[in-house]
Amino acid sequence: MVDADQTFVIVGGGLAGAKAAETLRAEGFTGRVILICDERDHPYERPALSKGYLLGKEERDSLFVHEPAWYARHDIELHLGQTVAAIDRAARTVRFGEDGTVVRYDKLLLATGAEPRRLDVPGTDLAGVHHLRRLTHAERLRGVLAALGRDNGHLVVAGAGWIGLEVAAAAREYGAEVTVVEPAPTPLHGVLGPELGELFTELHREHGVRLHFGVRLTEIVGQDGAVLAARTDDGEEHPAHSVLVAIGAAPRTALAEAAGLELADPAHGGGIAVDERLRTSDPDIHAAGDVASFPHALFGTRLRVEHWANALNGGPAAARAMLGRDVVHDRVPYFFTDQYDLGMEYSGWAPPGSYDEVVIRGDAGRREFIAFWVRQGRVLAGMNVNVWDVTDTVQRLIRSRAQVDTEALADPHVPLDSLVP
Ligand SMILES: Cc1cc2nc3c(=O)[nH]c(=O)nc-3n(C[C@H](O)[C@H](O)[C@H](O)COP(=O)(O)OP(=O)(O)OC[C@H]3O[C@@H](n4cnc5c(N)ncnc54)[C@H](O)[C@@H]3O)c2cc1C
Repeated sequence: MVDADQTFVIVGGGLAGAKAAETLRAEGFTGRVILICDERDHPYERPALSKGYLLGKEERDSLFVHEPAWYARHDIELHLGQTVAAIDRAARTVRFGEDGTVVRYDKLLLATGAEPRRLDVPGTDLAGVHHLRRLTHAERLRGVLAALGRDNGHLVVAGAGWIGLEVAAAAREYGAEVTVVEPAPTPLHGVLGPELGELFTELHREHGVRLHFGVRLTEIVGQDGAVLAARTDDGEEHPAHSVLVAIGAAPRTALAEAAGLELADPAHGGGIAVDERLRTSDPDIHAAGDVASFPHALFGTRLRVEHWANALNGGPAAARAMLGRDVVHDRVPYFFTDQYDLGMEYSGWAPPGSYDEVVIRGDAGRREFIAFWVRQGRVLAGMNVNVWDVTDTVQRLIRSRAQVDTEALADPHVPLDSLVP
């Protein structure tokens, strides 16, 4: 069949979906490209929702992956505000929208992303309880933080992960009182381990955030629909006018599951199981972005990466694979954060238990350094804090699997490049 007779359908208009559509056209695909998304906004990027946009420093227009007219110009059939309700693999169709429109696909991409996990405690239905995933959430939260800052109000954040900490930083910049409660012993524990988590504890304490570790939120206390306080399992009651629930995200696998596609083990992050070409257990269906769990040869495990760069590169990789190109999706995982005046980039994968030591290169006290997570002399991950233009070298070091001299690794006088074979 020639390209022009084919229909490729993309479910999910986040970064992965939008980049996949762009790549199909860039690679010369002349068939129909249908992009369906349940959000009403054109595809946009989420990182600024907890940073610049939340702080009112970035314009709404700067968030979008493409300007609205781009889609028609590239003959992408965009269906916004429409949910895909079902996939019929035998008939090769998807059903979407309120009127149950059915379209046939030759290839299908699932780029359905993730959604915030919910807290299962009394009081989460109160009006002052928030989650942050969508532009509409960020718009609402922006108003909430500004009002808290103006009125000396209190925000309680459940969860000291990336989004919880970034919103805590934004709330302090607005002048709100902020309390963060987290069951783990340090912030970002599952990613950074205890050694580097401390860095973020100190950073936030210096900026006046109250942090409580090893405690769980058990109840949000309210009156007449408004939030009054948040209770934790150590018996404490924290004053609160608003609560942000930031306890992680769950991959949106319901469609794939109902269609009988293979899912990854929830103990390893769950998601839709794909191969290194991002192909699911059905060869005509691919998955990319936050929802996909792919085997990563470098780390010898399946990974589900909930980060911007994985959507940015995974969408195009899936599009090429759908076109039958030779593709291996094996990028070193990468992400970044900005909190107050700290900016950092992290490359690799080194959860607690996977490394033997953390090597610091530079001045941790001044928060200008690179941290390396090392196992048996090999660098698994690296995080540059307020040090720039080293990501490429850090990633080459990880990818090389070389045995490094950890004294040289710690010594800023030894050029990092010289350690890469
Ligand atoms: C507040 C916030 C801050 C972040 N900051 C950073 C950061 O600093 N650095 C970083 O690396 N990463 C960051 N991330 C993560 C990054 O944004 C995600 O990894 C990225 O958005 C994933 O893109 P995606 O296309 O896979 O999924 P998504 O962006 O989630 O897009 C999926 C889309 O599919 C839609 N959809 C789902 N199911 C259906 C259906 N059945 N029918 C129709 N549509 C459907 C969803 O509503 C959504 O619009 C942040 C995320 C958030 C929420």
